Amino acid sequence: MPIYEYRCDACERKFEVLTSFAQRDRAQVCPECESSRTRVLVSSFASVGGESELSPLPMASSGGGCCGGACGCGSPN
Ligand SMILES: [Zn+2]
Repeated sequence: MPIYEYRCDACERKFEVLTSFAQRDRAQVCPECESSRTRVLVSSFASVGGESELSPLPMASSGGGCCGGACGCGSPN
């Protein structure tokens, strides 16, 4: 279970809570002033970017686009 860092809006105290990802966005009760006006501080390592957008393009093995012979641009008529 990951540890998330929260900040209290009432007393500006930072505290860490061991909670699940589903509960991450829930307001935690500040241990200092017991206020529920807290927000999660998303740290860099906790941000999930999803899959990589870099996917190798499928290389065309036969011919090369227009000059593959289908359009006749490669052969002088
Ligand atoms: Zn507080």
